[in-house]
Amino acid sequence: MISQNTIQQILSRIDIVDVVGEFVKLKKRGASYLGLCPFHNEKTPSFTVSPAKEIYKCFGCGKSGNSISFVMEHEKYTYVDALKWLAKKYNIEIEETFATDEQRQQQQSAESLFIINAFAQQYFSRILFDTDEGQDIGLSYLKERGFREDTIRKFQLGYSPEQRDAFTREAMGKQFNPDLLVKSGLVALRNEQYVDNYRGRVIFPVHNHSGKVLGFGARILRSSDKAPKYINTPENEIYIKSKILYGSYQARQSIDKADECLLVEGYTDVVSLHQAGIENVVASGGTSLTPDQLRLVKKYTKNLTIIYDGDAAGVKAALRGLDLALEEGLQVKLVLIPDKEDPDSYVNKVGASAFNQFIQRNKKDFILFQLEVALKDAGSDSAKKAEVVTRMAETIARINKAEDFTKQQDYIKQCSEILKIDEAGMHALVNKFIRD
Ligand SMILES: [Zn+2]
Repeated sequence: MISQNTIQQILSRIDIVDVVGEFVKLKKRGASYLGLCPFHNEKTPSFTVSPAKEIYKCFGCGKSGNSISFVMEHEKYTYVDALKWLAKKYNIEIEETFATDEQRQQQQSAESLFIINAFAQQYFSRILFDTDEGQDIGLSYLKERGFREDTIRKFQLGYSPEQRDAFTREAMGKQFNPDLLVKSGLVALRNEQYVDNYRGRVIFPVHNHSGKVLGFGARILRSSDKAPKYINTPENEIYIKSKILYGSYQARQSIDKADECLLVEGYTDVVSLHQAGIENVVASGGTSLTPDQLRLVKKYTKNLTIIYDGDAAGVKAALRGLDLALEEGLQVKLVLIPDKEDPDSYVNKVGASAFNQFIQRNKKDFILFQLEVALKDAGSDSAKKAEVVTRMAETIARINKAEDFTKQQDYIKQCSEILKIDEAGMHALVNKFIRD
């Protein structure tokens, strides 16, 4: 982190006219400067800079702030990167420290958010099981979906009542900080009043791998075109979507035992499969996987089986991000769930053993699957076929060679056969991509 001392030095040296002037041509007008706004399109200048107040303001689009926020906004920098840019501009040497006040504060916020989430999780569970509204609406909905009570308790599902501020009152009564409650996403500030954010919804707590609650997914009970199906915790110090795999806490031992991780899309898919006895399953919360999520999987196993229920176009889009998994040294397999079913509905329809059998029989190697899809697309078009060859070579080149040399050789052989091309040629092409 940048030390407070350095930050002070930067702040004392900043000249806002000088900083903004790097990007905007400014003309002096009385005590201020005027220029064309860099944040919206305009022909007559309405962007003003006040050196006395050390702020800028645009009377066209309303953007305003100080030197640091200008650099952040204009260059799309983080706060720290903006400071670094300014330090460079003013030849200030950056002094780094370990824990700054800012970091300590972040750490404190994170700890408080964990406490708030734990409190909220217990509250929502209590409402679900111990109140009339919870039982009549929340619990009956979950049971209708086929969830047993032991499953509901295992995943710590809950219910948030309809009353506009039921949770808010409870939390405020316990002296929780309103700003942190808003940050947690549990409470919202509307018309200057604190109200509950997840009213009349069933609650899926999202745990980290050690069982602490990072945030929540709140699902609507009746379909409505106005309201979103799920409201999720906003990004904060502990809820970082790109680093979360739903169900990893409940699944980790089974993943370890099976030496395979099944990946599905949604919360209910995970819960249903668990209930059916298929416990080595997590959800990414979307169709694509982030590098952090892949690394999380790799902590438990190298074998990742992705269960898709999307249409062909969706699957193709998802495939693109998976080259990353190869670099991480993961063995990726894919399964497509039969038409119009998702893992949740399919396991309920056919039962656990048939579901398992289906997965084991139909899972396909990611690279060969990709080849199959691409070849089908190319048809008899020879230019497109050549593209497929190049694309496959590129993918194979990304296999982590240090970890999987023989695997790479195998793929070159198999793909050459399927593509009906010379194996040595494929070899050369792959090596070319490795060098690049
Ligand atoms: Zn503007």
